Amino acid sequence: MAKKTKTKETPIDQRETFVSIGKNFADSADSVSEKLEVLYQLQMTDTAIDRLVRLRGELPLEVQTLEKELEGIDGKIANLNAAIDEQMSSIARNKADIVDGEATLEKYRAQENQIQNSREYDAINKEIENQDLLIQIAKKRIEEAKTAISTLKERMEIASEKRTIIAEDLAAKQADLETIIASTAKEEEALMAKRQDCASMIDERTMVAYDRIRESNSNHLAVVGIYESNACAGCMHIIPPQRLVEIRSGKKLVICEYCGRILVNKPINKEL
Ligand SMILES: [Zn+2]
Repeated sequence: MAKKTKTKETPIDQRETFVSIGKNFADSADSVSEKLEVLYQLQMTDTAIDRLVRLRGELPLEVQTLEKELEGIDGKIANLNAAIDEQMSSIARNKADIVDGEATLEKYRAQENQIQNSREYDAINKEIENQDLLIQIAKKRIEEAKTAISTLKERMEIASEKRTIIAEDLAAKQADLETIIASTAKEEEALMAKRQDCASMIDERTMVAYDRIRESNSNHLAVVGIYESNACAGCMHIIPPQRLVEIRSGKKLVICEYCGRILVNKPINKEL
């Protein structure tokens, strides 16, 4: 019976570096050079994608900010509308109270004409005074509500003007962004396809290390050439002569000991 050998896989984690993949990077010198070439192509492709994204500049962020502002002002307008509605119902309520109050007053006045003695007269007079006062209060409340509505409407006008400005600004910026995205869509699609091709030729562990190093550096470089014949183009540290020989051979995975980037025997992209 053949013996089964179990290979124990080390789990891939986000702390992967090129150093940790060094041992099983490739099984032959030839495959190392092929893999380095693919990684270099991947880096060039990603750098080109980064350039397209940079063309959009601050627009995506500006669009996002304006969308939030618009949402905020819409909320404010809704609150103002609700406050106006509340004042309108207050007016309606008080108007109804006045109608009722006046009917009651009518009733008391009719009673006043049939009064027999001064005690009854005083009592009914007091009721009339009270009712009159309630009507005055209701009228005052209506005036107050009207003043409140006019203030709310002024605020509403300011908010609406602001909304128009924001909406116009947003529409313009969205249009600009769409134009830029549309003008580079084909190029971006081709680059993304190329990235996919490269990525499919690279093992998952190496890809994790590559993406992590790219993301942790502001220049988004994980694979770099040699700068001025002896320095790492990623961090500008001088590369020891023996390592330079290894890089130039193109048959060994060489990692910059300062920045952890892969060094390849390639010209430096102007943008790098
Ligand atoms: Zn370096």
